[in-house]
Amino acid sequence: MKAEEEHISLAIVGHVDHGKSTVLGRLLADTGSLPEGKIEQIRANCERNSKPFEYAFLIDALKDEQSQGITIDSARVFFKTKKRNYTLIDAPGHIEFLKNMVTGASRAEAAFLVIDAEEGVRENSRRHGYLLSMLGIAQAAIIVNKMDLVGFDRSIYERIVTEYTEFLARIGITPLCFLPASARTGEGIAHFQGSMPWYKGPTVLEVLDTFIKEEPPTAKPFRMPVQDIYKFTGFGDSRRIIAGTALAGSARIGDEIVFYPSGKKGRINTIESFNTEARTEIQAGQASGFTLDEQIYVARGELAAKAGESRPRVTTRLRINLFWLGKEPFRKKTEYILKLGTSRVAVFVEEITRVVNASDLHSDTDREMVERHEVADCILKCNRAVAFDLSQDSALTGRFVIVDDYEISGGGIIREALEDKQAWVRDKVFEREYKWERSAISLEMRAEKYNQKPTLIIITGQKNAGKKPVAKALEGRLFSDGKIVYFLGIGNVLYGIDADIKGTGNKREEHIRRLSEATNLLLDAGVIVLATAIELTRDDLEIIRTVIEPERIGVVWTGDPVTTDIPCDLIIPEPRNTEESVSLIKTLMQDRGIIFRPW
Ligand code: GDP
Repeated sequence: MKAEEEHISLAIVGHVDHGKSTVLGRLLADTGSLPEGKIEQIRANCERNSKPFEYAFLIDALKDEQSQGITIDSARVFFKTKKRNYTLIDAPGHIEFLKNMVTGASRAEAAFLVIDAEEGVRENSRRHGYLLSMLGIAQAAIIVNKMDLVGFDRSIYERIVTEYTEFLARIGITPLCFLPASARTGEGIAHFQGSMPWYKGPTVLEVLDTFIKEEPPTAKPFRMPVQDIYKFTGFGDSRRIIAGTALAGSARIGDEIVFYPSGKKGRINTIESFNTEARTEIQAGQASGFTLDEQIYVARGELAAKAGESRPRVTTRLRINLFWLGKEPFRKKTEYILKLGTSRVAVFVEEITRVVNASDLHSDTDREMVERHEVADCILKCNRAVAFDLSQDSALTGRFVIVDDYEISGGGIIREALEDKQAWVRDKVFEREYKWERSAISLEMRAEKYNQKPTLIIITGQKNAGKKPVAKALEGRLFSDGKIVYFLGIGNVLYGIDADIKGTGNKREEHIRRLSEATNLLLDAGVIVLATAIELTRDDLEIIRTVIEPERIGVVWTGDPVTTDIPCDLIIPEPRNTEESVSLIKTLMQDRGIIFRPW
């Protein structure tokens, strides 16, 4: 890569009104990055409206137009020095910053943190410092701005340096440097004007060029969150392009790729890149797609890794460090959405271990909730397994955000993958998937031929709630509709497949695993399977969902009340006759596209 093509992303953070936008505006103006006449135009505008000119207005004005030379959007300013290109991420608040770091197009590799010399270190100066440390942004330069307001006084500057260095040391950050400046007068931004003869260090612009470019983690194990699956539309062409942005490592044509959490695998057949020359390799940082030699069912949200390299962690329980920003506190036993890579799963807060105030670093244990601006060490329980890395191993696949009521309300990093109750089943499933001999007839071909989506419908409820008659009547109805359907009686498994463990003590979990494996074969053969079981629990279902893709399972509870904690897709309260129950389940199946409604 030529030096002038090097590109680096920086965040500008700091307490509101400490001068982030002014520093940015000044940088653009003093490096000649602005379109001709822009400053004059804004000055004239200000004069007309009798308000004083502000460099910060430049940023607002540029946001409204896509000018040549520099481009700008709501959160980012692109500009260049002689050395390289920059994306400056203007992060007015914590949420925007987190969003950018975890989900956004630009992830900061380094940061400027702006502190007002007159106001000194404020709460948000500290909180932003905490965020930088948590997200692993090791390169931070601190601009002590508005030095003009304190008469360019060296002792005031040094007091701030001492106070903030001490805070940063407590959270494990050693800043690259401190810089005294005045964005309003331009002192110390791109030039020195002689107001601070006592300062012998670099300007903001000089420091900009000294940040070290983070190399994309090409040497790490391959990781690509699956963003989308594109289908070829040509007749008889059933290939799929699995698309996404590689976050780490590299993969070549012929490499064996394993997707997590499903454990499905395939070899890369072709690499499809967008608007670039044909590639034979995907590298960290590149957006691309690939096709596989076998048609497997991969869903958005899975994490692609390479066989033979260290595999991502897969579990439903995570120990995390969370930075909470929601209006409502983050509470135990409440459901949230976790966005991790391209996956979204529902999570519960199992434990809040420790809470730290990100500003004064006071810490607390034994709390029921985490308030806004607090940082917490917690355990999350996901409603289905997720694949990720620990943040200390791979920053980009170890970060997440949390959505509460449709809004991003917090974010953080994953510290530890905790064992869950299904870990023993998952290991077997990975092995199974790895060894799976795939038929030349794909799942989709069968689904098309049979005109149905192979699915397991579990009918559960209390003893004598009429589960079996309903299941058998439903089987009959679907059969006469021309569906390929099979009622799988528990007894059929218990005395056959389970003969070796029958009566050998409490083997409920193993029974469920085997029943699920038997069902999985039938589903692979394209069949709709109907099974009944007495009072299944959430834990039971989790085993089933580990063996069988969660999308292929429907849970129906017959009779009230629901006596276990199992999440149901349909509850049929009593009194209902068999016919009514069958119709209700059939409607559920139609709604989910398992079978189709007649025209
Ligand atoms: P932001 O909220 O951090 O982006 O802050 P702005 O850049 O919008 O600045 C807030 C206010 O501080 C504006 O009125 C600026 O003119 C003023 N300001 C910014 N930098 C300086 C400076 O170096 N000296 C003085 N005196 N005022 C400044």
